[in-house]
Amino acid sequence: MQNMETLGSVSTLQSRRIILFPLPFQGHINPMLQLANILHTRGFKITIIHAEYNSPNPSNYPHLTFKPIKDHLSKVAHEYPTNRDGTYFVRYLNKSCVDTFTDCLAGLLAEPGEERVACVITDACFYVTQAVADDMKLPRIVLRTSSLGCNLAYEALPFYSKTGSFYLTKQVDRFEVLVPEYPLLKFKDIAKITINPQGMGDLATNMLNQMKASSGIIWNTFKELEESDLETLSRDFPVPSFTLGPFHKYFPASSSSLIEQDRTILSWLDKQPPKSVVYASFGSVAQINESEFQEVAHGLANIGLPFLWVVRPGMVVGSEWLESLPENFLERMGDRGRIVKWSPQQEVLDHPATGCFWTHNGWNSTLESICEGVPMICSPCLGDQPINARYVSDVWKIGVFLEDGFERVGIEMAIKRVMMGKEGGEMRKRISCFKEKKVASAAYLVATTRGVLGLGDLVLQPWVNLSLAEGGSSCRSLNNLVDYISSF
Ligand code: UDP
Repeated sequence: MQNMETLGSVSTLQSRRIILFPLPFQGHINPMLQLANILHTRGFKITIIHAEYNSPNPSNYPHLTFKPIKDHLSKVAHEYPTNRDGTYFVRYLNKSCVDTFTDCLAGLLAEPGEERVACVITDACFYVTQAVADDMKLPRIVLRTSSLGCNLAYEALPFYSKTGSFYLTKQVDRFEVLVPEYPLLKFKDIAKITINPQGMGDLATNMLNQMKASSGIIWNTFKELEESDLETLSRDFPVPSFTLGPFHKYFPASSSSLIEQDRTILSWLDKQPPKSVVYASFGSVAQINESEFQEVAHGLANIGLPFLWVVRPGMVVGSEWLESLPENFLERMGDRGRIVKWSPQQEVLDHPATGCFWTHNGWNSTLESICEGVPMICSPCLGDQPINARYVSDVWKIGVFLEDGFERVGIEMAIKRVMMGKEGGEMRKRISCFKEKKVASAAYLVATTRGVLGLGDLVLQPWVNLSLAEGGSSCRSLNNLVDYISSF
């Protein structure tokens, strides 16, 4: 946070307040808090309204103000471990938080002596907040924490129609067929997005409509990565769009983790040869069953490489933690493999020993892997993950899709392709190209906002390269966003 303060102290103070409202899940909280830090460095005062569920720790953010609101989630929280309909909780939260959010926002607007509120920035999934903001005549900007591609796919897919429901049924013989409405995807990808097409249709329609009704959309992506989708998007979403990602590269890894990160693995990684470790993690929500869990274990054991595996408590359906591991697995693996409950992921991906990332392709994880130049093995589970995985394997060609799910022979083959084959080397080259492009975006902000760095200093930053001189796309987008908010 010291870095943040330095940045803040040299920026032009806007003396305006912005109110942020994240969706209370790890993959949504992280980018919203990162955005809060970015805007704080540009002189805005930040207040975060947040649900009590998965509450962020305010002591990690002394420069921000936090206002908890009742979310009534305790009434349904017991369903969480077994209900695999991801849309259910998001739709529930939209109903259960609307009154408490409205009251809290009205209270903040009425506070005497505070800086004038410029706008509210809410997670796109909190679609009910558009009407609340409209009533209060307050501009609402949306933070969309997924990719542009995911949004276009959600728009194109016919979740409501008979065909949509058909896609989601287990028509195994058609699984390999491309979906006509979004031919990057196969039928089997669609079947993974949700188990509840009607619920997904409701969520997607409300979210997309209220994004279009908003005053603007902030994306945690960068122009060079999704250039062609950006063109389509500006046609379909005719409100200002700001692509200022990747957010996590603006500052050193920060602490919005809801689970304690096991940092002991960093010294274990230090002992491993360069690019030798398979890092496996499936994020904060995805679940697998016992037999899939065992296949993962066998796959990691059989490949013979060092591995770091994040097994979040509750990740294996019906298990507390590691009960379903094959017999004597940990003893047999010895120091070759480490299993932890939660890792400092950004640092793991940035570590020279990390050779590939076996991921569920949540958007944050995908972006983090791209930023650190780590090729992926894709095992998407739900929501936007199958869409992100297709982009990784079929568009950007920086990963291998585990097409047949969790099965030990397929797992071994995929790891070999990425870690040992010529194909893996080519993926690595491609992904480093992205890494360089990304650098042009984020690094520019840090350097220019500090205002104290000369060219000599910049050279010391390994991720700063010549493209910095051209001015990064994300930096320009952030400047535009700051100007836009200041104009309200
Ligand atoms: N993460 C972490 N430690 C872990 C696994 C994940 O810090 O062991 C972080 C990861 O860096 C990312 C977030 O949790 O920022 C997960 O977000 P993502 O969108 O990838 O997936 P989700 O959890 O929403 O499915």
